[in-house]
Amino acid sequence: MEKKALLYEGKAKRIYTTEDPGLLIAAYKDDATAFNGLKKGQIANKGILNNKISAFFFTLLAQAGVDSHFVKLLSDREMLVKKVEIIRVEVVVRNYAAGSLVERLGLEEGPPLSRPVLEFYYKNDALGDPLINEDHIAVLNLATPAQVGIMADQALTINEILTRHLQTRNLLLVDYKLEFGLHQGNVLLADEISPDTCRFWEATTGEKLDKDRFRRDLGGVEEAYQEIYRRLTGGEN
Ligand code: ADP
Ligand code: UDP
Repeated sequence: MEKKALLYEGKAKRIYTTEDPGLLIAAYKDDATAFNGLKKGQIANKGILNNKISAFFFTLLAQAGVDSHFVKLLSDREMLVKKVEIIRVEVVVRNYAAGSLVERLGLEEGPPLSRPVLEFYYKNDALGDPLINEDHIAVLNLATPAQVGIMADQALTINEILTRHLQTRNLLLVDYKLEFGLHQGNVLLADEISPDTCRFWEATTGEKLDKDRFRRDLGGVEEAYQEIYRRLTGGEN
C-alpha cells in the first residue's frame, strides 16, 4: 500500500491517504513535544519504537476481543489503519497517582489509586486540552451519551487487558490516554498506545519508562522506550 497525499501532520505522526479511501497510513516521527507543545525535541528512533509498540498493543487487544483501527505494520515507522472520524475527546485512565492528577488534587506521586479513575479531555490544542465531563461533551456535541458509554467501557476493558499483560513483564500501567473514532457509525479505538501516551513504571524499582523522562529531563529517554519494546516483545519484530 503506497502513501498518496499528506492528510494531516501532527506533533508525533503524519497521516497519509492511500488508494483505498477507507485506509490511511500513520507514519510515526521522532519529534517529541510536551506541555502543550511548549517543550520540543527529538527522541532518536522514537517513531520506530512507538510504531512497533502500538502495533503490539493493538494486536494484543484484538486477541482479547477489542477491535481497533490497526490493520497491519507496513514498515519500521508506518502502519496501515482504518480511516475514522476522530471523536475530539481524549479518554484517560489512571491506576496510580501521577501527572496532572497529582497537581490538580494535591496528591503525592506514586501510590496506587483505590479504583481506576476515568477522565475526559477536550482534544483542542488552542485550549490546552481542558478536562471536561459528560455534560460538556454533550453541549459541545463531541459525542452522544451512548458513544461516551462505549468509550468508557472500552477504556476500562483495555485497562484490564493491558494491566494484566504488563504485570507479566514487571511493568506498572500508571495511566494512559486513548482516542476513539467513528468507523461506519461505530466507535473504534484509534491513534496510538505507546510510551508517548502511557506512563509505565518498572514494578520493582519504580523507574519511569515513558515520556516523563523527556518531560522532566531525566535522560535515557530512547533507552526507556527501547526497554518497553524489549520487555513486550523480547526484541523480535
Ligand atoms: P496530534 O494531532 O495530537 O499532534 P499526532 O501527531 O499523533 O497527534 O497526529 C495524529 C493525528 O491523527 C491525531 O490528530 C489523531 O487524532 C489522528 N488519527 C489517529 N488515528 C486516526 C485514524 N485511524 N483516522 C483518522 N485520524 C486518525
Ligand atoms: N496524555 C497524552 N496526551 C495528552 C495528554 C495526556 O498522551 O495530550 C497521556 C499522558 O502521557 C499520561 C496520561 O495521558 O499517560 C495522563 O496525562 P496527564 O493528564 O497526567 O497529563 P500530563 O501531565 O502527562 O500532561
